[in-house]
Amino acid sequence: MQNWKLKYDGLRKEQEGLREALCTLGNGYFATRGAAEESKADGTHYPGIYLAGGYNRLKSQIAGKTIENEDLVNWPNWLHLSFRLEGDKNWFQLEKKQVLNYVQELDISAGILRREMHFIDEQQRETRIISTRLVSMDNPHLAAIKWDFVLVNWSGMVEVRSTLDGSTKNEGVKRYKPLKNQHLKIIKKGEAENAIYILVQTNQSLLYMAQAAKCVIFSKTQKLDVIRKFFREKEVIGEIFTFHVTLGEQVSIEKTVSLFTSKDDAISEPLNDALKQVNGQADFSVVKRRHSEAWKRLWNKFDIFVNASGNSQLLLRLHIFHLLQTASKLTIGRDVGLPARGWHGEAYRGHIFWDELFIFPILNYRLPDLTRSLLLYRYKRLEEAKKLAKREGYDGAMFPWQSGSNGREESQVVHLNPKSGQWVPDNTYLQRHVNLSIAYNIWQYYEVTADKNFMKFYGAEMLIEIARLFTGLASWSDSKQRYEIRKVVGPDEFHTAYPGSDRPGINNNAYTNVMASWLFSHSLKAFDLIGITRRDVLKQELQLDDRELEKWKEIGSKLYIPFIEEGIIAQFEGYEQLEDFEWEAYRKKYNDIHRLDRILDAEGDSVNRYKASKQADVLMLFYLFSSEQLVLLFKGLGYDFTPSNIPDNIKYYGTRTSDGSTLSRIVRSWVVARSDRTCAWHCFREALVSDFEDVQGGTTPEGIHLGAMAGTIDIVQRCFTGLEIRNDVLWLNPQLPKEINSLSMKINYRGVWLQLNFSANSCRIEPLDEVESDIKIQFKKQSFTISNKSTKVIQYQQN
Ligand code: BGC
Repeated sequence: MQNWKLKYDGLRKEQEGLREALCTLGNGYFATRGAAEESKADGTHYPGIYLAGGYNRLKSQIAGKTIENEDLVNWPNWLHLSFRLEGDKNWFQLEKKQVLNYVQELDISAGILRREMHFIDEQQRETRIISTRLVSMDNPHLAAIKWDFVLVNWSGMVEVRSTLDGSTKNEGVKRYKPLKNQHLKIIKKGEAENAIYILVQTNQSLLYMAQAAKCVIFSKTQKLDVIRKFFREKEVIGEIFTFHVTLGEQVSIEKTVSLFTSKDDAISEPLNDALKQVNGQADFSVVKRRHSEAWKRLWNKFDIFVNASGNSQLLLRLHIFHLLQTASKLTIGRDVGLPARGWHGEAYRGHIFWDELFIFPILNYRLPDLTRSLLLYRYKRLEEAKKLAKREGYDGAMFPWQSGSNGREESQVVHLNPKSGQWVPDNTYLQRHVNLSIAYNIWQYYEVTADKNFMKFYGAEMLIEIARLFTGLASWSDSKQRYEIRKVVGPDEFHTAYPGSDRPGINNNAYTNVMASWLFSHSLKAFDLIGITRRDVLKQELQLDDRELEKWKEIGSKLYIPFIEEGIIAQFEGYEQLEDFEWEAYRKKYNDIHRLDRILDAEGDSVNRYKASKQADVLMLFYLFSSEQLVLLFKGLGYDFTPSNIPDNIKYYGTRTSDGSTLSRIVRSWVVARSDRTCAWHCFREALVSDFEDVQGGTTPEGIHLGAMAGTIDIVQRCFTGLEIRNDVLWLNPQLPKEINSLSMKINYRGVWLQLNFSANSCRIEPLDEVESDIKIQFKKQSFTISNKSTKVIQYQQN
């Protein structure tokens, strides 16, 4: 099956962590890294089991201070299966055998991880094992493994060992090593009705997880007579099966695991439900069929077909796959957000940042109920955000830069610079723009779905509270005769203070200020569209009066935007006074300079001194807004800004950005898609391979970069096609890169599925549903409507 399989041949120790992250299986409820079943955390392998939203806090002593971190917990390892062949003393270790064939293969279409091991042991016995693994997309609480044994040239006894291992700790990120990492205590473990089980609890959040596992052993379709021995060790519960296999016979072990937590709905208590489910479970083949069918249904909506050479199609699908494993239909209704690194590893501790901005557009057009559910994760934390605002001296709601369980600010106070070995203050929490991205996401969700109820009961309230925050953050400057926003950090995390200053924050980050102006006008729009009754209720409930609304208009039209020279926006006030950075010299000296901040810090210098950005910051404006929208935004602020200024800004910042965040290349590709197609394709490809090739040298094994993965899908979905929804019109303005001959996808526009097919000179739009009210389309300069069964084919010329 072409372009649906990620295949690794041979054992490569140094690549194992990367393979484990990329072969992670998940269903939006829990995820399991693609570690070998027989492995343990040993520096090469790292089995990791993560629950969506399964956090725990621990206090550690760092540099004489007590700091508290909230981590995504690594739960008991349900995967474990091992074996030994007759006469062997030790349990299986592939590294010690003569390997004839070793393959790891992820079938993206069906969500199946397959491993094949073919080896000869010390006694010249040749054995083949095929492992097939899944984390069910059909039933959130279910996972299963099947091992097929073939003894190629011998007959004899085989022992198989299956465990649930509660000894796991959080050890997935080396930098976090000095921090406390023991999150679990074992409450109970044992055997019941031919199953083994373990019940654990986190030691601070007091979250229970129960796992129950059952093994069945078959020869062909016959259940095999086996000797079963149950055992318990300190933190492990297990069973050993002994049976005879004859030459050429295929024997299969099916391990089915059920996993419940105290966060689940509709359960009695996790262990009770885990045991009930595992004991009533169907055969592996049935579980696998249901799981694959669920994936088929997802792909039917989510697949984006691109006719391009090389591995672009495969990687695009891999990115869609990991997005859906992080958040899927099974996530809807659960109290979880979208983590920056997937549920694939422990980097960034499973926290939720602003990366949703890059991810929601994919979900909006295909599973908008999921976006709604993920936006509610924020809404449910509105009270905590109000508390944070208050603590910082503001009205309204201040959502934290890093969010976890209850919406408290989870950004770390200090972080370890692995280059210098020093713990340094971390002021990135000053990224107040995370609130603007939440507001933007609410509006985008509304544009695509026209879900007025959401806006009425949740969206408008969040927008109002965020607008209030920015009313407070903005202060009047007599000298500038404008409002300014001081002491923040923009998307570029390299600039957290002015050179030499011990006060964190920079002033008037252009991105933040322009977005704040957008926020005010759109909060007013949202308030208008929710209807008189709801408006009155909100006015009363939130004590909102017309004066406050007037103030939003006033600030929104008078925010200060710094410029370096005519048409070139300054990333923040004073940016032009920073020193030029010697890019070439540093590239020569260090080769990889993505993380310049760490390099300079280790040299006793500071990146704050230079015109050097970690990631696109000003360029974010051209990413989020079309040139027409931007011109209007600037006009509303009383600044002259013309579309012809955009390329100059792109050029200016393009040479001053290290792309230290994988999000940066998404933005770069997007903003030049119309002006420099070669560069756009180059940046797109760089973003597309960034996890596959682990371009940052070691970050992907700690978790995928979900924002960048989704960003690449969105480049194809919206950027190459010019897809946009604005003022109740669906806009299309395709400009395919020459490397893509054609592309097709389905989108859901306000409840109607549309099939869109593009080639270099034609576009076909076909409604797949009944169209109740005509859909207004603006295709380049042509306007038309789509009604029932009216397929439209448009011929066009690329610019
Ligand atoms: C980037 C942020 C991003 C975070 C999580 C950081 O490296 O600078 O913009 O939100 O990673 O992905």
